[in-house]
Amino acid sequence: MINIAIDGHVGSGKSTLAKGLAKILGYHVLDTGAIYRGLACAYKEAGNPPINEGNIAKFVKNVDVRLEFEGDLQKVIVNGKDYTPFLRSEETSLLTSKIAPYQVLRNKVLAIQRDFAKKYNCIIEGRDIGTVVLPEANVKFFVTANEEVRAQRRLMQLQDKNISFEEVLKDLQERDYKDEHRQIAPLKPAKDSIIIDNTNMNLEETISYCEKLIDEKLAKSN
Ligand code: C5P
Repeated sequence: MINIAIDGHVGSGKSTLAKGLAKILGYHVLDTGAIYRGLACAYKEAGNPPINEGNIAKFVKNVDVRLEFEGDLQKVIVNGKDYTPFLRSEETSLLTSKIAPYQVLRNKVLAIQRDFAKKYNCIIEGRDIGTVVLPEANVKFFVTANEEVRAQRRLMQLQDKNISFEEVLKDLQERDYKDEHRQIAPLKPAKDSIIIDNTNMNLEETISYCEKLIDEKLAKSN
C-alpha cells in the first residue's frame, strides 16, 4: 500500500491538504487528531477524572473506538456515542492536548492508524505520523506556516464565533508548545520529511505543489 504522512502545526492546513490530495489521487484519508479528540470527549463524558497515568489507563482499558466514513466526513464513535459534532470546539482541543501525551492512550490510536495504513492507499495526518506511526511511509510532509496566519485560518473555521483572534492565537501557541515539548511522540519533522511552509501559499497552490512532489517521489521509488 502507498502511505503518505502529513504532520504539522495547528492550523497549518493539514486536513484540507490531505483531503485535497486524496481526491486527486483516489486515496483514503485518516484524520488522527479527530480520534484523539473523540477520546477526549469520551473522557469528559466518563466524569472527566484528573488527568494522570492511572486514570487514563483505566479509561483506555475498555474503550471502544469506531470510525465511519461518509464522503469527506470522518465520524468518530467512542463507546457507542457519536462525538463528531463536538470534536472541533476549543474546549475539546485543549483537553485533547492534555490526554494525548499518555503512551497507553497513544498505543490504542497507534493500532487503529497502522491497521488503516495496511488496508488502504492513504494519507494519514497528525503529529507523529512520519516519526512514529509510519516511519516507512512513501512520502512525508511536515506542514507549517507563520503563527498569525495559522490563527487567522483557525478563527475562520471555528464554530464558536465569540472567540477573539488573541484567544485563538494563545490556544494555538499553547497546543503547539505542548505537542512539541512532550516526551512521547513529540511534534517534529521526521529526518526524511519535506517541509512545506505555506504562509504565502493558498490551498490550491499547496495541493498542487505537494501533488508534484508525491509524483516525483513515487516515480523515483518505482
Ligand atoms: O490535528 P488536531 O488539531 O485535530 O489534533 C488535536 C490534538 O490531538 C493535537 O493538538 C495533539 O495534541 C493531538 N494529536 C496527537 N497526535 C496526532 C494527532 C493529534 O497527539 N497524531
